[in-house]
Amino acid sequence: MKTAAFLGLGAMGVPMAAALARRAAQTGGRVLVWNRHMEKALAHAAEYGTQAATLQDTAQASVIFTCLPTSADVDEVIGQLEAHLNPGTVWVDCTSGHPDAARAQRARLLTHGVRFLDAPVSGGVNGAKAGNLTVMLGGPADEVEAVRGELAFAGTAVHVGDTGSGFAVKAVNNALLAVNLWATGEGLAVLGRGGVDLNAALQVINASSGRSNASENLIPARVLTREFPPTFGLGLLAKDTGIAMDLVDSVKGSAPVLAQVDALCRAASRMIGPNEDHTALLKLVEQMNEQEIR
Ligand code: NDP
Repeated sequence: MKTAAFLGLGAMGVPMAAALARRAAQTGGRVLVWNRHMEKALAHAAEYGTQAATLQDTAQASVIFTCLPTSADVDEVIGQLEAHLNPGTVWVDCTSGHPDAARAQRARLLTHGVRFLDAPVSGGVNGAKAGNLTVMLGGPADEVEAVRGELAFAGTAVHVGDTGSGFAVKAVNNALLAVNLWATGEGLAVLGRGGVDLNAALQVINASSGRSNASENLIPARVLTREFPPTFGLGLLAKDTGIAMDLVDSVKGSAPVLAQVDALCRAASRMIGPNEDHTALLKLVEQMNEQEIR
């Protein structure tokens, strides 16, 4: 019987591990789940048919998935688990992590015969619930192909390059998310100050060339409604734009717009709060314009 383990039952981990469990129920496998606060693992097992496990017990899985806030958190878990790992295990890290950390983690785990792939995801909590996340995989091609069939939470899985490339693409993707969100917020705040109806403005933008996921989905559902449901933290978005800037520096690139939006995300995370939903970034735009986007 094939055993997978999922470590980290946060906003993403809960539905991702549930997708693994649905697949395992069809294929006769099992899914072990671990969370730092164990009650979440027990609740997951009761709701989705997974098995709550101690961290040490998850080492028996042939594939170990992690989805934690940062690469530093993954380092911590690797440190606690590495003495128990078995050669041949594959570690698939779905954290939106740091490319430098991926290379160090792969080297560290290889000393135990464990292969590491960076495999961050996009699609949010809804995509995870639907099992159609986009996964960007970094690592050797043969290892990526070997794990592809295990990604029950994926709608699309693309091998983007060697170790660290998945994290690099994810950081740039989220920097683009932040650019679109911020810039659309600026445009709407200005239109609002000028007395334009913002629902009408978005109707036009979304049928025109200025549209994006921010204008089509995030702003109508989360900002105009004033709900800002906390599914993806502003602090996590600021972490991602920071990783994107590290990437710019490491390749000696030039990306002034991404640098600006990184500074704005960090300021917003500090001023609005890191645990607020990422769309609360626009509360800073609202303050700057003394204009609610509604
Ligand atoms: P959450 O904050 O909802 O959950 C974080 C999880 O990590 C919790 O299970 C928490 O455990 C655990 N954790 C935190 N620190 C440690 C640690 N040091 N050791 C062990 N466990 C730890 O995060 P998300 O699920 O939102 O995000 C996870 C990753 O996925 C991030 O890198 C994020 O950027 C990325 N991501 C998030 C998306 C989203 O829409 N939310 C979309 C795509 C990617 P505990 O319950 O004990 O606190």
